[in-house]
Amino acid sequence: MIFNTPFAQAVINFLLPPQCALCREITKQPYTLCGDCWPKLKFITSPKCSVCCVPLDNVDHDMPCADCLKFPPVFSKAYAPLIYNDSVKKLVLRYKNYDGLHLGPMFFGWMQRCIPEDINIIVPVPLHWWRFFTRQYNQATELGKLIAKHTNISINSSLLKRVKATASQGHKSKLLRYENLKDAFVVTDTKNILQKINVLLIDDVLTSGATANACAQALLNAGAAKVDVLTIARAVKDNNGTP
Ligand SMILES: [Zn+2]
Ligand SMILES: [Zn+2]
Repeated sequence: MIFNTPFAQAVINFLLPPQCALCREITKQPYTLCGDCWPKLKFITSPKCSVCCVPLDNVDHDMPCADCLKFPPVFSKAYAPLIYNDSVKKLVLRYKNYDGLHLGPMFFGWMQRCIPEDINIIVPVPLHWWRFFTRQYNQATELGKLIAKHTNISINSSLLKRVKATASQGHKSKLLRYENLKDAFVVTDTKNILQKINVLLIDDVLTSGATANACAQALLNAGAAKVDVLTIARAVKDNNGTP
């Protein structure tokens, strides 16, 4: 396409210079942050929980965290490039509540190094139809489509449905969150697509893991062999986070 030529891109950059996704300062490259905002991102490195991806202190290698040992989730492993802090929260809110779809490639750039190798199908965490109606798009599906496009893994956003609209989970305890989401998701798999295959569940943020767990349970009940989870960010207790 003509807009993809270097010359056309230079003209577009001149007329509409790329902006920092956080502070809107002019940047050289599109889909990135300015030099002042970059250090506000905290990338997750080892040692981290080998199940839920939460960073760990005082150990020298990845292992299950105390929470995952106590309440093992039904998903196999969660992946996320970033810690969910105020800056990431701002970016994610823009992506899901306003017209921030253009931020997708930036998120994909960070998520792509976390994609496990043995995945057969991508399934986004669905929105309840009412939320979808008011928001017009599902940010998890948009992320899933980008990953599918760049990896050639197929995506199916109609297998998993949210049948229960759940109130904000923010102040609930972990057990209450799990209880609240029980039976919130159902799988309709008339063609038996899920039988014995590995699923990558996509969402924007992993907080308590209750949503991912409820989705994974529905997918496993429908025959999936394994469910891994990939999000943009992982909430951590001290960073704006989870109980
Ligand atoms: Zn900036
Ligand atoms: Zn864990």
